Amino acid sequence: MIDIIEIDEHRRLSLDDYAADARFVGAVANLRAETARFRFLLDGRTIWMVNSTAKGGGVAEMLPRLCALITELGIDIKWAVIKSDREAFFKLTKRIHNLIHGDLSGGVELGPEDAALLEEVNRENADSLRPHLKESDILVVHDPQPLPLGGMLKKSVGLSTVWRCHIGLDQRTDATNSVWHFLRPYIERYDRAAFSMAEYIPGFLEGRASIVTPALDPYSHKNRHLLLGKTVGVLCNSGLQPAYGATLANDDEYVHKVKRVMPDGSTAVPGEVGLLFRPIVLQVSRWDRLKGWAPLLDGFIRMKQGLGQDGEGKVMSRNRHRIAQARLVLAGPDPASIADDPEGVRVFREICSRYRELDSEMQKDVIILQLPMQSRKQNALIVNALQRSAAVVVQNSLREGFGLTVTEAMWKHLAVLGSSACGIRNQIRDGIDGLITNDPEDPDEIANNLWQMLGSPIWRYQMGRSAQMRVYEDFLIFKQVSRYLKLALSALGTERISWRP
Ligand code: UDP
Repeated sequence: MIDIIEIDEHRRLSLDDYAADARFVGAVANLRAETARFRFLLDGRTIWMVNSTAKGGGVAEMLPRLCALITELGIDIKWAVIKSDREAFFKLTKRIHNLIHGDLSGGVELGPEDAALLEEVNRENADSLRPHLKESDILVVHDPQPLPLGGMLKKSVGLSTVWRCHIGLDQRTDATNSVWHFLRPYIERYDRAAFSMAEYIPGFLEGRASIVTPALDPYSHKNRHLLLGKTVGVLCNSGLQPAYGATLANDDEYVHKVKRVMPDGSTAVPGEVGLLFRPIVLQVSRWDRLKGWAPLLDGFIRMKQGLGQDGEGKVMSRNRHRIAQARLVLAGPDPASIADDPEGVRVFREICSRYRELDSEMQKDVIILQLPMQSRKQNALIVNALQRSAAVVVQNSLREGFGLTVTEAMWKHLAVLGSSACGIRNQIRDGIDGLITNDPEDPDEIANNLWQMLGSPIWRYQMGRSAQMRVYEDFLIFKQVSRYLKLALSALGTERISWRP
């Protein structure tokens, strides 16, 4: 049974609230004026967003506010999430996800049994969504998990369809050729497709695909400004910092604490780990091999070891101190919340066992955190506070469709150490908004980049400033709303209709 997600709770902020902020007044006015010219084309229609999860990951992160703002613009939009209790389905879609990223580890071949499973789960979900739909509606399906559903519903309901793919690879490999060959029949039943980057559009979709860059909401709990007291309060209340006095945050909201992985493999509430006092190198992501966790850990260790190898005179004592004090925080969802993602659990365990092999001094400087996922708001505030506590945010992805974690950190005025993965290098201009590690599997390059960034606070500050401007200009939600509406219109084949003045 498909889940229709209630989006009312996210509607408390209106476009007027954004427009009351001098930074966003122009963007809101542009969006309203633009929408007023084509809204009549969407009258009487519902735009349906369909994806595979209501919590966790970039798509679920962005949809609630996007839907709320589109509703406020006078356009009917709903959000549905497909469901399945079949582990094999999630294993298969994970394989498809990895193949689109060019990862062959799950094998290349996708055969008729895979197609049958994908279709069966999608048929069940299509059947439960169908009664809600009408012919004039526009279905926007996100990512491969619900992909076959679009063709099924188009055939029976006749509505307009868009497939929005958030992942991709900027190269053609055996893996990508094989997975696009497998998915092509499902995609071709759609009226239109959209990708995050031009590099990801497979050849057979040329001329039929749009670009929709992801974006963030500057007023979301993940990205809103936090005063210092609030940041500290969130850290204290979630167990990331001992409170040395009363805090402002309401403890009732923080029933679920962050857990730290301990050297003996157990978990504990972290307590004092230096978040407020030391230069923190932070990566927050899902436990996915493609996020480059292991080489990041190795790179950090090498940076620390480099300190011992360098002659006393070579490193300025200030920098020596900074690097000696630096700590690495690796944060991701509590594995209990990702039981439907066995590979994620495996990756998490691998990182933990690498951690257990470190010597006890290094173990103090590496902090693996499991973030509670029960409350979206609490999780978002924890990520927000963690990012604001960091000196350097890293996103060492081997592959990355876009990388909202990068955008989030850039918006918070932080210099990010990204990788050359397509989504990341399209956000960070190397040396301007942050640094790019060309080979995210090379611990020496990571160590060197971390060393440079930690050792140059003024340069970091300048890069952070320019990073924030970059997000302001290109990656805020107002532009994204406009891009989605144009995408919906393109599925109707009306994008070339001359709009009313
Ligand atoms: N995220 C989170 N809690 C976690 C791990 C990740 O809220 O424990 C969020 C993160 O802040 C970001 C999103 O999940 O907003 C991940 O999006 P991204 O585009 O970076 O990667 P994806 O997960 O979609 O591959």
